[in-house]
Amino acid sequence: MTAPATATVRTRWAPSPTGLPHVGNIRNALYSWLLARRFGGQFILRLEDTDRERYDAASEHAIVHSLRELGLDYDEGPRVGGPVGPYIQSERLDHYRTVADALIASGSAYPCFCSRERVQGVREARQKANIHPFGYDRQCRGLSAAEVSRLLAEGASHVVRFAVPLDGETRFHDEVRGTIVYPNRELDDHVLLKSDGFPTYHLAHMVDDRLMGITHVIRSEEWLPSSPRHVLQHEALGWELPKYVHPGLIQGRDPQSGKVAKLSKRHGAVFVGEYLDQGYLPEALLNFLALLGWSPGGDRELMTRDELVELFALEGINSSPSVFDLEKLNWMNGVYIRGLDRPELVERCLKHLIDAGLTGCDPDADERAFLGEVLSLEQERMKTLAEAPALASFFFGDLPEYDEASVKKRLKTASAGPALDAAAERLSAAPTWDVAGVELAVRESAGALGVKPGEVIHPVRVATTGKMVGPGLFETLAVLGRDRVLRRIRHARAEFAG
Ligand code: GLU
Repeated sequence: MTAPATATVRTRWAPSPTGLPHVGNIRNALYSWLLARRFGGQFILRLEDTDRERYDAASEHAIVHSLRELGLDYDEGPRVGGPVGPYIQSERLDHYRTVADALIASGSAYPCFCSRERVQGVREARQKANIHPFGYDRQCRGLSAAEVSRLLAEGASHVVRFAVPLDGETRFHDEVRGTIVYPNRELDDHVLLKSDGFPTYHLAHMVDDRLMGITHVIRSEEWLPSSPRHVLQHEALGWELPKYVHPGLIQGRDPQSGKVAKLSKRHGAVFVGEYLDQGYLPEALLNFLALLGWSPGGDRELMTRDELVELFALEGINSSPSVFDLEKLNWMNGVYIRGLDRPELVERCLKHLIDAGLTGCDPDADERAFLGEVLSLEQERMKTLAEAPALASFFFGDLPEYDEASVKKRLKTASAGPALDAAAERLSAAPTWDVAGVELAVRESAGALGVKPGEVIHPVRVATTGKMVGPGLFETLAVLGRDRVLRRIRHARAEFAG
């Protein structure tokens, strides 16, 4: 894809701080960020906080936090500032008023004094009688200039509505959907400014996109039906359109029925923060989200952040829905976890180990080295970082938690006692405590008893780890250390194999 010749690419993510950012929101942020980085442009964060009733400060925090956690840095935005700020809509009300006034002056918008109740009633009646367009009946569009002046002078409460052309059609180009044609008679006169002086999304976003020099608007499919309104507003003002990009919907699969529908809470977590809390790596999430509705072509799936930037192109965005496949995310996360080197693995798992009480808040170098050995044994099996405590807990403390079925099968047997005794004896005398040393000791115990190695390995595994499954036994024993291993074998011998 070639960069637009006219301007540097400037993209924006424009979330409304009315809830926690979900997967679909973040995908828009990611695509906007990728496009800007791909062409050396700018990525802007803008808070669309004009819905005062639904404003939620926690959501504002979550928006910034998610971007930071995912490494989607923005060049301009709230607090970091920039040349075309402020970047919070509630601080930009004058701009919207000015544009609304210009539209009124040119006859493309008008004040509407109808009460909320009337508008509601009209909408219902038209819907019932199937009169198109549904919605407002344009009563105030016919008011005389004198009447309007009188009502305004009286301070009558009003909104400002856009005067949609009564016939004809609106045509525009969507970068992933091609030409879209919409009959104007299906559109009612939408509100631009509310009675409290705050703009609606229809007005605010286009004013800001214009004033902020946005070249590409990447937004959710839910905005597609309103796009003709935005195109008409641009035409009324003689403004050039930005490029519109509406990627396909993200769907979830119902765990019970297998049916797919718009992604929602019942498909599992939808807020990006929850995935991060659950131990998905930011780089795995980014890779996974990028592929939800975009493909670099071919069957390439694993891409680093830099590779994503290099390969990203609007042409690869799909307009059809994609399904959020948790199994694929788990697989991908596992791949990324296996790619971490030891210090990094410790660093990423630390929070989960601390929360589980397995290590202190500020482990020293020795403790980190131990954690590194423990975690690298579990690395192969981990799908999320949050699994680390459960997988690794038996490495900590005096005794592991003993699984009843494993104890019954491997320790409460006639041969377990002698096997544990023999193992304890040779392990305590092993000249070196490393993988080769403990392996030799265990195998020699079996040899001395005249049994197969498994006859010793199985009880020793349950005695030292509490369960039948886990990483390689000799590696595990080497990491557990001689004292802990002997203590556990002796305990198991007395407690279970008596
Ligand atoms: N505030 C809108 C939203 O969160 C922004 C849509 C857009 O990107 O223009 O849905």
